[in-house]
Amino acid sequence: MYMDPLYWLFIGAGMLLSLWAQFRVKSAYARYSQVASRSGLTGADIAQRILQANGINGVRIEGIRGSLTDHYDPKARTLRLSEGVYGTRSIAAAGIAAHEVGHAIQHAQNYGPLKFRSAWVPVANLGGGLSMMVIMAALAMGGAATATGQSLATAGILMFATTTVFTLITLPVEFDASRRALATLESGGVMPKDEIAGARKVLSAAALTYVAAFVTSLLTLFYYLVRLGFIGGNRNRR
Ligand SMILES: [Zn+2]
Repeated sequence: MYMDPLYWLFIGAGMLLSLWAQFRVKSAYARYSQVASRSGLTGADIAQRILQANGINGVRIEGIRGSLTDHYDPKARTLRLSEGVYGTRSIAAAGIAAHEVGHAIQHAQNYGPLKFRSAWVPVANLGGGLSMMVIMAALAMGGAATATGQSLATAGILMFATTTVFTLITLPVEFDASRRALATLESGGVMPKDEIAGARKVLSAAALTYVAAFVTSLLTLFYYLVRLGFIGGNRNRR
């Protein structure tokens, strides 16, 4: 499969898009990490203020090692902010902290896509984990050209599709978290307008990585459909 030029055409496009998105995040983050926020509030301070403004109690804020490792843990109801965010007074730190609070707000308000995504995690882990083996077996059986191959190919495609669904449902969750974050920063008067524009750039770049993940997954799914002979005739005939 990895010798197949078609594979590289499809997956290569996804990889390039992902690399470009990661580059955008890193450069936006590097740039706005250097710009101090005039409020003098750290990422942790900003997170605390937004939680309060939304009337959310019982969410803990902790520091975590690493760069861009920030996340909200719904099980522990804990917001974990990375080294460059937790105690840092920069526009990038404010934007990222606010985004993670966005997830905490989604959780507190039972935001539908977030609930679906959490429930879907074990499905996607299982489906994605088994899909490669089943697709390989389907290819060995001649793909969609034979009865056994077709059943295996269909099963493999459905298994892989669970991961594509996961990357798709991640999009509204991530976009909504950033939207909430920026809205609270704006209405709360925590940050001046020009600083919010900087925070928005960091969050837009981050959102791009999720779009890239979805597109890559979709291209991979499409590649399997072609390779297994569901689209464009059976390339696997020997
Ligand atoms: Zn997020």
